[in-house]
Amino acid sequence: DNGPRVSSLLMLVIGLTGGIGSGKSTVSHILARLGARMVDADIVGHQVYEPGGPAYDDIINTFGREVVGPEGKIDRKRLAGIVFSKADSLEKLNDITHPRIRDAIAVILKEWRGEGTKIAVVEAAVLFEAKWTTLVDEIWATLSDESVVLDRLFKAKGMSHEQSRARLRSQIPPEEKARRSNVVIRNNGGLEELEKQVEDLWRSVNSRLKGSGTSSPNAPG
Ligand code: ADP
Repeated sequence: DNGPRVSSLLMLVIGLTGGIGSGKSTVSHILARLGARMVDADIVGHQVYEPGGPAYDDIINTFGREVVGPEGKIDRKRLAGIVFSKADSLEKLNDITHPRIRDAIAVILKEWRGEGTKIAVVEAAVLFEAKWTTLVDEIWATLSDESVVLDRLFKAKGMSHEQSRARLRSQIPPEEKARRSNVVIRNNGGLEELEKQVEDLWRSVNSRLKGSGTSSPNAPG
């Protein structure tokens, strides 16, 4: 690009993570309503699988032609069948996709920076697992009690407690994600309570940005 270089410090990038069912996408919707620009790593993740996408060829070369469905698209069900039946396959798949997703998110953030965006949020359940933390300036984590999560996932997605526990065990424990984050959004109550928390955070992050002028919002002092 040949536009003027805009200091990366002018845009704050927040990584939003947390365990499954802890309220990430609910918080995303609230932040979007408040004016944050949101990028969902799941959506970017789907794009890298598309024919012509940056992970397409590598996935076929690694897992075989049988993962290609009708119309030349990667059939995610077939891929999952292979990935979850062979040891090390998930790691191999992640090694292919995670860096590509990271690059794609970086491109989006760069574009937004150039457009003068003030606050961008990267929603990523696997922010820590995929080692995307260096893409963001600070990390917010949603955290809910396991009993609340099991209840929500049963009600919203019909997932059995056993299925939900298996999913929870496949990721870094939610408490650890919270410990490694700058901000923890506790979400065991109702929606109004969650909205109020996020609105307060939004206000404080905005006043922090105003107060810091052009210097890094995370600068010490
Ligand atoms: P995640 O994105 O972390 O998996 P979601 O935001 O999708 O979590 O939340 C999981 C389910 O729980 C959704 O159906 C959502 O509507 C519901 N939920 C989340 N937080 C609350 C809350 N504070 N009150 C009521 N329902 C909630």
